[in-house]
Amino acid sequence: AGVDAALAGSAPTRTALSLFSLSDRVALVTGGHRGIGLEMALALAEAGAVVYCLDLPPNPDADWLKVQSFANELPGTDNLKGEKKGRLEYISGDVTDQKAMWGVVESIVDREGRIDICMANAGILHGAECLEYPAEDFKRVLDINVSGVLFTAQAAGRQMERLGIRGSIILTASMSGTITNPGQHWVAYNTSKSAVLQMARSLACELAPKGIRVNSISPGYIFTKMTGDFLEKQPGLEEKWSAQNPTGRFGRPDELRGVTLYLASDASTFCTGSDIKVDGGQCAW
Ligand code: NDP
Repeated sequence: AGVDAALAGSAPTRTALSLFSLSDRVALVTGGHRGIGLEMALALAEAGAVVYCLDLPPNPDADWLKVQSFANELPGTDNLKGEKKGRLEYISGDVTDQKAMWGVVESIVDREGRIDICMANAGILHGAECLEYPAEDFKRVLDINVSGVLFTAQAAGRQMERLGIRGSIILTASMSGTITNPGQHWVAYNTSKSAVLQMARSLACELAPKGIRVNSISPGYIFTKMTGDFLEKQPGLEEKWSAQNPTGRFGRPDELRGVTLYLASDASTFCTGSDIKVDGGQCAW
C-alpha cells in the first residue's frame, strides 16, 4: 500500500516531450558567446528560455549590464510547437569577481523576475610543464575554472533560494577532471576540472533540501577556439587525439545541446549530484 500511495502522487501527468519545455524559464550561461557555451545557450533558448550569455567585458569601461539582443528569431523553435520562443541576450562580466557575479544575477532577476537555470561554463586552458608551472598562471586557471564556477553557482543559487525556485545549476567540468593524457602539461587545468566535479557533488548535497539541483557535464575533446588554439601549435596532434577516442573523432559543440536540455529541464527532476560524460567514450577506453 505504501508503494501504491507513493506512486499515486507521482503519476506522470505530462508527455515526455513537454518535460523539455523551458517556456517562461530564465537562464544564465557564462562563456556563452562562443563554443560550448553558445550551443548550450541556443539549446535553452530553442526550448523557450530567456538566456543571458555572459563573457568578459569587451572593454573595461563597458557597462556590464548593457544588454544587447542579438538573436530574437531562433532556428528550430518548431521542435516544441506551441511553446513560447526564447531569446538570447548578451551581457558582460568576470566570473572571478564574486560580488559582481552576485550583482549580475540580481540584475537579471530585476529585469525578468526570476532565474531558473545556471550554466557555469566559462573556463580557460593553459599549459606549462608541472615542475616549472608559473604561480600566476596556476592561480589564474584556478580563479576562473574553480572560483569562477563557484561564484556563478552561488549567484544563481542565492536568488533561487530567495525566490523559492526549484532551479537547475549545471557546471561544465571535463573528462580532464577524471583522466589525463601524456604530454599535455595541463596540471592546472586537470586539477581545476577535478575540483569542479567534486564541487558539483558538494553543492548538490547542500542545495537538495532547497529543491535546487546541481549536476556537471564532462565533455571530451570538442572543436572550439580553446582546442583550436592548442592544436594549432602542435601539428599532427588532432589526428593523434582523434585516434585515441573510440569514435575516432572530436566532438562538435552542438553535441552538448541534448544533455544541456535534459539537465536544465523537468526531464531530470530526480537527477542531482551527477556528472554526465559527453566524450565519445574516451573515459571508457
Ligand atoms: P572557449 O575558449 O571557446 O570559450 C570559453 C568562454 O569562457 C569564452 O566565451 C570566454 O570569454 C569565457 N571566459 C573566459 N574567462 C572568463 C571570465 N573570467 N569571465 C567570464 N567569461 C570568461 O572554450 P570552450 O567553449 O571550449 O569551453 C567552454 C567550457 O568547456 C570550459 O569550461 C572548458 O574548460 C570546457 N571544456 C571544453 C572542452 C573542449 O574540448 N573544448 C572539453 C572539456 C571541457 P572571452 O571570449 O570573453 O574570453
